[in-house]
Amino acid sequence: MSYERPNIQRMTGYTPGEQPRARDVVKLNTNENPYPPAAAVMDALRALDGEALRRYPSPTAATFRERAAALHGLTPEHVVATNGGDELLRLAITTFVEPGRPIGMAEPSYSLYPVLAAVHGSPVERVALDEHWQPPADFAERMNRAGVNLTFLVNPHAPSGTLLPPARIDAIAGALQGVLLVDEAYVDFTEPSEGHDVVSLVHDHDNLLILRTLSKGYSLAGLRFGYGLGDPGLISPIAGKTRDSYSVDAVAERLAAVALEQRAEAAESWNAVRHERERLRTALAERGLTAPVSATNFLLVHVPEGYGGGAAALHGALRERGIFVRHFDQPRLRECLRISIGTPEQHDALLAAMDEIASA
Ligand SMILES: *Cc1c(COP(=O)(O)O)cnc(C)c1O
Repeated sequence: MSYERPNIQRMTGYTPGEQPRARDVVKLNTNENPYPPAAAVMDALRALDGEALRRYPSPTAATFRERAAALHGLTPEHVVATNGGDELLRLAITTFVEPGRPIGMAEPSYSLYPVLAAVHGSPVERVALDEHWQPPADFAERMNRAGVNLTFLVNPHAPSGTLLPPARIDAIAGALQGVLLVDEAYVDFTEPSEGHDVVSLVHDHDNLLILRTLSKGYSLAGLRFGYGLGDPGLISPIAGKTRDSYSVDAVAERLAAVALEQRAEAAESWNAVRHERERLRTALAERGLTAPVSATNFLLVHVPEGYGGGAAALHGALRERGIFVRHFDQPRLRECLRISIGTPEQHDALLAAMDEIASA
């Protein structure tokens, strides 16, 4: 006897990347930042006293909202704090999508989106990305025609790493009848000289909701802290109605506020990641494994059939050597491995293992 709702019974849950218990592995499979959190964040953690835990946290994460607003040149009413960026995705669905109505997304993209849609009992309106991993010109039109009230767009794109310019986001937000959630989980790794800025568009589009997370850029995936930015009319029902009371705990809020203050230190890791990303991309290309230019902390690497038996076989052979990368068994991704950017030492170990496997 199952007590599940029928759509829960039918659906498959999210498949997270493997989190091996052993610490001496080379872990390049879940896009964690290879560098530690800022020193001041660890100091703040050690300085926490029992009093901070005895009391309930701020129900609105007020301190964090103020800090984030200052960082982005917005007001606290433009900001909502969430339990990881993932919670914002779920809250956007709960807040903006009538159960059973479609949710829009580009294909391929973050594999959690369709899972959250299934939980909500909503069908997915999928629009395939073109050969450059960009949405087609009629992307918004097709969402409108399908009656979509919430569309997810991950930018920089996962899992390809490619970046869509703000002008495209501007046009899509302007053309959509519903809400556009731009998932900027990896935006910290974009080239600073590009001046990539989508946040300022919230003043032009009252349907633009931006997701940020401290998991990748700030090396705090274990803390579970993310936030949303948008027009107060979009943020207010999330912050004041659909969000759980105290979804962000006192420890997380305090450390997240410190992390934003220490942005300059985190930015050093972004620099190091960008540098290593290009070194790895070049080294892989020399071996005949190509990846699109990435604005993120990972590469989507195409593995020719003749190299180590192809992507799936290479994934398995690397795993046997304690090197974890990600393989997605789905169209357009099957021939690829997604490799998170690690330290120079981790990349040396990866390349040595690959050479060994390829020459076997
Ligand atoms: C990591 C990630 C998120 C958010 O992750 P959290 O750890 O929940 O903050 C959102 N979207 C994409 C595409 C991601 O890779």
